[in-house]
Amino acid sequence: MAGVTLKAVHKSYGKVHAVRGVDLEIPDRAFTVLVGPSGCGKSTMLRMIAGLEEISAGTIAIGERVVNDVRPKDRDVAMVFQNYALYPHMSVFDNVAFGLRMRKTPEKEVKRRVGEAAELLGIGELLERQPKQLSGGQRQRVAMGRALVRDAKVYLFDEPLSNLDAQLRDEMRTEIKRLHQELKRTMIYVTHDQVEAMTLADRIVLLRAGVIEQEGKPLELYERPQSRFVAGFIGSPSMNFVPVALAKTNDGLGVQLPGGATLPVPPQRASGLGGRSQILLGIRPEHLHHQRGVEVPGGFGKLRVTVEVVEPTGANTLINFHLGPNSLIVRLDGYSSAQPGDQLDLLVDMNRAVLIDPETERVL
Ligand code: ADP
Repeated sequence: MAGVTLKAVHKSYGKVHAVRGVDLEIPDRAFTVLVGPSGCGKSTMLRMIAGLEEISAGTIAIGERVVNDVRPKDRDVAMVFQNYALYPHMSVFDNVAFGLRMRKTPEKEVKRRVGEAAELLGIGELLERQPKQLSGGQRQRVAMGRALVRDAKVYLFDEPLSNLDAQLRDEMRTEIKRLHQELKRTMIYVTHDQVEAMTLADRIVLLRAGVIEQEGKPLELYERPQSRFVAGFIGSPSMNFVPVALAKTNDGLGVQLPGGATLPVPPQRASGLGGRSQILLGIRPEHLHHQRGVEVPGGFGKLRVTVEVVEPTGANTLINFHLGPNSLIVRLDGYSSAQPGDQLDLLVDMNRAVLIDPETERVL
């Protein structure tokens, strides 16, 4: 087992500077997810760790050993790809065993390890089948078996679930998490899907245009994003953003929303705003609530909106509305009988709102 350390790592493909000076400590035995929009450099980082891509500058170490010049097969990493190409003419057993046999592992040991991996992945019944006799989810399990059967220091996953349909993806996500809990190996997982990142990761590394925008525990990124980009990327539906003016009120400081409402800025948060007159207010859809009585709890503001689109999801109801030109969304618990055109009274949890400098896009 080992952690992975990247120091000032760069990667250029000709003129494309894909990874721009990344310093990163990936902890031993943890589940680390590299996430970010398409093209941000996450696959490149994973492939550099695997040794499938040369690095342009910097160092990568697996455990104590700098591996810049170590060939992929000598790095002690195992990788699961998005396109899990199984050998079509080989049985599941032979597919899983392939890497071990290439390494001249004694056949008795091959049997033992394939058996263990098959048990872990629930594919024990399928070992005699050929890939074409498997469902998509079963094939993905076999592909994972091929990686897990190896006694590697680090396991790398490159969007392994993106070819599966939504339900299967959810199931496999749970399985991967369970696997990590059982095996406690160092796993590094690449995805563009923030839900996958949030649910799987011990640590999230959020990349943007080849640099790390923020890293931390999933709930740290959710609760304390450092920039508008992180605030908008993490969470589903995405955070609402509204440009607001700051104004003095009878009780202290407030933000004036387009459309006229004023919401209180909690006193402990006002000091960070400096002398600004305009900021960007970020509010998560789940931090807006339907006001049922007349009371307004401390730290909350009131807002009356006109319902535009209602989207019931079963457990929640998503309601779209506008504040001036800005389209917003609120997630209400449970079923809502609201109809388009209705007036809806909302409470805004200003303790959990995010206050952003509109110029730097950093959180204040
Ligand atoms: P991600 O995995 O985040 O979608 P990648 O790491 O695949 O992003 O790519 C990062 C950037 O590097 C992109 O701009 C991509 O077009 C470019 N890139 C990736 N691989 C190559 C390559 N082999 N040749 C040229 N450009 C590449």
